[in-house]
Amino acid sequence: MVEENIGNVKNIKYVYSFKEGDKSMKEILGGKGANLSEMTAIGMPVPGGFTISTRACAEFYEKGKKLSDEIRNQISENLEELQNDMGKRLGDRNDPLLVSVRSGAAVSMPGMMDTVLNLGLNDETVEGLAVKTGNKRFAYDSYRRFIQMFGDVVMGVKHELFEKVLQRIKDEKGVKVDTDLNVEDLRMLIDSYKQVIQSSTGKMFPSDVREQLDMAVKAVFSSWNNDRAIIYRRMNNIHGLVGTAVNIQSMVFGNMGDDSGTGVCFTRNPSTGENKFYGEFLMNAQGEDVVAGIRTPEVIEKLGEIMPENYKQLVDIREKLEAHYKDMQDIEFTIQQGKLYILQTRNGKRTAQAGVRIAVDKVNEGLITKEQALLEVEPDALDQLLHKQIDSKAVGQVLTRGLPASPGAAVGKMVFSAEEAKREAENGESVILVRIETSPEDIEGMDAAQGILTARGGMTSHAAVVARGMGKCCVAGCSELSIDEANKVIQVNGNIIRQGEVITLNGSTGEVFVGALDLIEPELSGDFGELMRWADEARKLKIRTNADTPKDALAAIKFGAEGIGLCRTEHMFFDGERIKAVREMILSSDKEGREKALAKILPMQRGDFKELFQVMDGKPVTIRFLDPPLHEFLPKEDNEIVNLANEMNVSTESIKKKIDELHEFNPMLGHRGCRLAITYPEIAEMQSRAVFEAAAEIIKEGKSITPEVMIPLVGNSNEFENQKKIVDVVAEKVKQEQMVNFDYMVGTMIEVPRAAVTADKIAEQAEFFSFGTNDLTQMGCGFSRDDSGSFLKEYVKLGIYKRDPFQSLDQEGVGELMKIAIDKGRSVKPNLKLGICGEHGGDPELIYFCHKAGLDYVSCSPFRVPIARLAAAQIAIKEKKVEEARVREEMVKKMIGGIREKFGESVSVDDLERELGKGGF
Ligand code: PEP
Ligand code: MG
Repeated sequence: MVEENIGNVKNIKYVYSFKEGDKSMKEILGGKGANLSEMTAIGMPVPGGFTISTRACAEFYEKGKKLSDEIRNQISENLEELQNDMGKRLGDRNDPLLVSVRSGAAVSMPGMMDTVLNLGLNDETVEGLAVKTGNKRFAYDSYRRFIQMFGDVVMGVKHELFEKVLQRIKDEKGVKVDTDLNVEDLRMLIDSYKQVIQSSTGKMFPSDVREQLDMAVKAVFSSWNNDRAIIYRRMNNIHGLVGTAVNIQSMVFGNMGDDSGTGVCFTRNPSTGENKFYGEFLMNAQGEDVVAGIRTPEVIEKLGEIMPENYKQLVDIREKLEAHYKDMQDIEFTIQQGKLYILQTRNGKRTAQAGVRIAVDKVNEGLITKEQALLEVEPDALDQLLHKQIDSKAVGQVLTRGLPASPGAAVGKMVFSAEEAKREAENGESVILVRIETSPEDIEGMDAAQGILTARGGMTSHAAVVARGMGKCCVAGCSELSIDEANKVIQVNGNIIRQGEVITLNGSTGEVFVGALDLIEPELSGDFGELMRWADEARKLKIRTNADTPKDALAAIKFGAEGIGLCRTEHMFFDGERIKAVREMILSSDKEGREKALAKILPMQRGDFKELFQVMDGKPVTIRFLDPPLHEFLPKEDNEIVNLANEMNVSTESIKKKIDELHEFNPMLGHRGCRLAITYPEIAEMQSRAVFEAAAEIIKEGKSITPEVMIPLVGNSNEFENQKKIVDVVAEKVKQEQMVNFDYMVGTMIEVPRAAVTADKIAEQAEFFSFGTNDLTQMGCGFSRDDSGSFLKEYVKLGIYKRDPFQSLDQEGVGELMKIAIDKGRSVKPNLKLGICGEHGGDPELIYFCHKAGLDYVSCSPFRVPIARLAAAQIAIKEKKVEEARVREEMVKKMIGGIREKFGESVSVDDLERELGKGGF
């Protein structure tokens, strides 16, 4: 925070002119404000203005939603300067200054908070605007738009009430579109709008322009905590911001005739990443018209034909801004009577595909380094690249075509509202949300849907921008589509399709199909491979995968997995014939019977391991012994029980009795994990034999494998010792029987809190630890994995936990348990191999944590392997940068010490600078 000392009074600076800030001040000026200042500094044609800081927003809330006198005074000072710069005054009846009031937080939250345009109009200034622009209709149209927006955003009057009045007047005048209303009609509309405000709020529309300004600033600050902004922050995991900034900017108009217009453009294609100018504009329109998608905009190249000079200037600005920010920019511009203005620039949101291509291209263009490229791609965004596409062999009837707004493909039942999308998705249905156009209120429904289809709007419409951000397939601006949201039916080219019928979207081509088309997994691009190679060079953590079958393992290897960190062997007990033998084992009353049944499973399990070892081709494989409670393998339905009794030649009653005996009230804390094989050692014996015989066969074939046997749910070192003994004995036996020597390791999962706090004891025997963070969270936080879904949502809403601890590791609690285990484990065995295999393993935040905690590897599901590779590279690069900064600081300190020795303690700043300059600083 910048503070100015005035005598004894410390004055906090709340308001900054665009001439004062720069792009590094996002925290205080918000992203938009910081960039407006930066653009002003580098000579872009930005309309003048000032930013009321996020600090002011925080104080607004501290003071019970009031603007302090200090903030108001600083606004007045900056307004004065703006008026002098523009040669116009707010409220001047002859030549009024009009301003926009827009929100802008440190993190971009498109469409989440409020905006007011044309502020400064009243019954007097509207006349001045009419005279000054020579366009009475324009002035009155601006005035009625302002009242409507002010009434809605600032005074809380429902938007529909204004729409109703507008429709009534249009009907009375017999006109179809707003632009057919003349000045007299607009005057009537303005009077009616004022009445709407008065009757619904009991207050008059304020004609005092300064009152308008203060009210609008307060409204924007208040919108920081409206429902949609709160939901957006929660969904996007945005925490720790103090509030939004407010930007007050001199208005420029794109709706002042055919030599005016407005548009949005990207310096590269945000969908594909192609290095080609990309954008849309509308002539004689306001910015809201482009984004709202009411008229379908023109492609940016067309501006070259209509306004060649302005287009040339815009192309020039595109190059300058990209070179300056070294990233793809999303630029808003307005042309007012032949003069181009830039209203905003920010790093453009992009699809993952575009993100990867742009990052790699920029390295090849010499704009950024490989390390910068790796840091600028959001690991989680890679998920989009791994998304399904429509199988090229699939034949479908194209219903219609819209804009390819966000890539990927989606199949689902049509629903017509966000609520329905949410409801149906909660029931496990795949749905496509079909809307005339979307608005921020639809955000949760969009999140719940597989894909989004809209009739209106361009590539920069709300639906398109939000869907791209979510990595969700979207077809927008499907203008042939007639959507009846009330009756839940669409009509297009003579086809009528109703709610619940299935359609398929291709977000990469814009096609919409009737029925369900087959989808296929994606192919990864050369750029993706290149970026991944750079990531592998940079990262320190190894990335393994959780895979139980050769098929999963193969998929993970394709994505770059370097081993298997968790093979859950229970699936090997379920398939086909095996389940019968498993049931026989469970239901046997003695060891002999159990061994007989296990002997049937052994060859099958050995075969599974051998196949897995073959696929992994020498890479490490961690095999976790049987974990789930035995009753999970038993039949549940009556007819299954009867069949089993017949097969086993025992009575149905005896089976039912055994099932009852195995029933547990709390199976997750019951007879599971190593407890099973401690009470039935023959299970561990069979599994050890299957692993080692498979390894022996592989080695006899001339290949290599070092199996890692992992004991689950250990809480006490004696449990581990018990199991390790069995494994070692079987290993020795197999070596002798097979006359083959092989290496192997025996380690344990750390998933019981007691194991974490006694890790030193366990490490005396264990050769590796793998953190099972699913159970460690369950037992560490005391939340049942199966039953906590209902209240954890509420916990996250209330902020008790920032995120669901089963999705994002609770670093403060469970992370601390991990640290204790790491410290204790390595205090006994400094080289103890450490990994993690809970579902958290693919979460970038956890990967950063694991890197810092000194783990050797993380193991995650196959599709998260690329994400993990990138996240691991990012943390290694960040750490390297911190280390480099530390070394630099040390050197500077040393040099300063040397300089002091040379020049004495009272060394001058000039001497210091000169000497430091010699050292290259
Ligand atoms: C764990 O608990 O984190 C784990 C990987 O084991 P499972 O999910 O099979 O209990
Ligand atoms: Mg577990």
